[in-house]
Amino acid sequence: MNNIFNFCAGPAMLPQAVMLQAQKEFCNWQDNGVSVMEMSHRSPEYMTMAAEAEQDLRDLMDIPDNYKVLFCHGGGRGQFSAIPLNLLGDKLDADYFLTGQWSHSATLEAKKYARINETNILTTTSEGKTSVLPCAQWPINAGAAYVHYCPNETVDGIEIFDVPETGVIPLVADISSTILSRPIDVTKFGLLYAGAQKNIGPAGLAIVIVREDLIGHARRAIPSIFDYAIQDKFNSMYNTPPTYSWYLAGLVFKWLKTQGGLVEVEKRNIMKANLLYTFIDSSDFYQNNIDKSVRSRMNIPFSLVDESFNNSFLSASKVAGLLNLKGHKSVGGMRASVYNAMPIAGVEALVKFMRDFANENM
Ligand SMILES: *Cc1c(COP(=O)(O)O)cnc(C)c1O
Repeated sequence: MNNIFNFCAGPAMLPQAVMLQAQKEFCNWQDNGVSVMEMSHRSPEYMTMAAEAEQDLRDLMDIPDNYKVLFCHGGGRGQFSAIPLNLLGDKLDADYFLTGQWSHSATLEAKKYARINETNILTTTSEGKTSVLPCAQWPINAGAAYVHYCPNETVDGIEIFDVPETGVIPLVADISSTILSRPIDVTKFGLLYAGAQKNIGPAGLAIVIVREDLIGHARRAIPSIFDYAIQDKFNSMYNTPPTYSWYLAGLVFKWLKTQGGLVEVEKRNIMKANLLYTFIDSSDFYQNNIDKSVRSRMNIPFSLVDESFNNSFLSASKVAGLLNLKGHKSVGGMRASVYNAMPIAGVEALVKFMRDFANENM
């Protein structure tokens, strides 16, 4: 197990210490004689664990008291519907900014409920490099109920580090693949959301961090489980929450605290990303065409200049214990996802493999 590194974009690798702890208490959690997944979510033991997980996330992300943290069903995509149904109020328009695949998918879903300008494309390409319009130049519609964007495009490998200023218009961000990878200023946002399976824990859970005053204006026809007012009132237990995912997320939050919190985690993530990008840029065998200012730290797509080596690259990397490097089908090439759980040793092993493979095939 120690020599395997899993670069899957999601569901992604989890910290080994967390996996071992979960294994140890799998059948008998906290001496209750049963697994945590066999317990009532309303039992005092479970409720204590759940509240602790929320508090740990609040500590890690420095979430102010006037924000609610909800543990929801339905993954990232569930929120693509929940957000317009909760936030549009009596407005017709919402601003959706397009920077890649996931912001596009969010737009398609929101179109069912809101009037969207589908030409808000922020990516530009010049001399073969893809870049993103600086936040200050985004064309924000003053009549929009909210502004939505995706700070880390998991498929495209684009990350936006600045935060747009939207004044009184609530800013909404899909942080599924960047949550907990670096500190962010929660107060700049009306709502943040993330599917769990990239940087938090197993699939089945979505975290929503929403400013209090944005709750309670949902459309009447909203499904109850998507209504933030109902989820808030019931402490995310209106129906049975994804109990095991919540528990594992809690273990990951505690692990992050032992790592020194997000300031330390960010340093490690910068180091990992630099290691791989620097090697790619120095090589004539590999390339990445995202402008340096918006290169993702979590998802690093790259291609082989001679794509006829793609299949042998993938089979040899698998033999070397470097798993799931195949790029998303819409982009092709390769992608290394290096979330928090990926140790530096994993990136070092990948760079060594890539260097050797290039030398053998030049
Ligand atoms: C993975 C991902 C999603 C979709 O998550 P699901 O849980 O599969 O619905 C949405 N947005 C981003 C940025 C993602 O990376």
